[in-house]
Amino acid sequence: MKINSNFLQLKDSYLFATVGRKTAEYKRAHPDKEVIRLSIGDVTRPLAPAVIAAMHKAVEELAHPETFKGYGPDQYCYAYDALLDTILASYARKGITLEKGEVFVSDGAKSDCGNILDIFSVDNTVLVPDPVYPVYLDTNVMAGRKILFADANEQNGFLPMPDEGVKADIIYLCSPNNPTGAAYTREQLRAWVDYARKNDAVILYDAAYEYFVADERCARSIYQVEGAKECAIELCSYSKTAGFTGVRCGYTIVPEALVREGTSLNRLWARRQSTKFNGVSYITQMGAAAVFTPEGEREIGENIDYYRENAKIISECLDGLGIWYTGGKNSPYIWMKCPNGMTSWEFFDYLLQNAQVVGTPGSGFGANGEGFFRLTAFGTHENTRRACERIRALLKK
Ligand code: PLP
Repeated sequence: MKINSNFLQLKDSYLFATVGRKTAEYKRAHPDKEVIRLSIGDVTRPLAPAVIAAMHKAVEELAHPETFKGYGPDQYCYAYDALLDTILASYARKGITLEKGEVFVSDGAKSDCGNILDIFSVDNTVLVPDPVYPVYLDTNVMAGRKILFADANEQNGFLPMPDEGVKADIIYLCSPNNPTGAAYTREQLRAWVDYARKNDAVILYDAAYEYFVADERCARSIYQVEGAKECAIELCSYSKTAGFTGVRCGYTIVPEALVREGTSLNRLWARRQSTKFNGVSYITQMGAAAVFTPEGEREIGENIDYYRENAKIISECLDGLGIWYTGGKNSPYIWMKCPNGMTSWEFFDYLLQNAQVVGTPGSGFGANGEGFFRLTAFGTHENTRRACERIRALLKK
């Protein structure tokens, strides 16, 4: 018996554990001080009433023999028509036409970010941005693929563009981005689509934060760029859109037009899902089906506006201090440059000790994150305002 020794190549991630340990140590040493976390990466607003009502109704259906449901329908990898219809309608509102068979409902974008790799050879070279959502990197390390990095930095606004000198087969793009909050315009994405088509590459486009896009020029979906259906898979999630981080539901789009080596990637993915996945629970699917209804969209919009207001409070604080940052406009993340040339961890300690505010050191997301710091908009208005007052008092000259 041999293990998959690629796992031994994974770097241990101490990022959130160290943030938690340092915060707990500080609290123990200073029980009188109140620490505010601007590091929350999870949503905090409750589910929309329309979602809750739909889930209650689904529970009731499961309670009676006439309306009971077992496994989901086979035809679309266990997704119910009621849910697929709302997803297609939400794409139609973005000017994109999809067929039901192109939509695959999942238990979230994280699983599919990793699972989708089953349909690609391990011989492919992968391009991931640096800094990066760690899942793209680690899932490819586990498979033993060759990994190249696309430099995201202050010069390119943390939005790397394609380099014709680099040959990549699988390209990860995340927009709006975690951790940097930066969002590609449609024009910028066009360059990536052109690169992928020219190089026979496939883009894995993570749109988990698309509902935060406010700027008309920025993309809500990669399929808003012509030709993307021939070169891109899109990974979507109800987590940040509708507060489903604990409920678990997402969807992945694999267009019919996406063909490599004469083989439909849609067919490969359908085969993979019907073999290794048995669908998302009926209750979850019915809750998700309420999200993109007029009532659901209005309600989730209120929650997103709540987080947007926090992002605005943080952005205005940094604007006032003259600190460079990305994000905050089309994203719940604000990626700030550490003041006075501090490293990410130096700034973490400085902020904790002197303002009792916790953020996430950028260096934990990759080498290019060094000297940067992530703040999030998922807290309450009150805590966000108070944290910003403390940051302002500490950092103003
Ligand atoms: N993609 C990105 C960029 C994320 O930041 C996250 C969660 O933080 C996910 C995917 C995971 O989404 P899900 O909860 O649907 O698994």
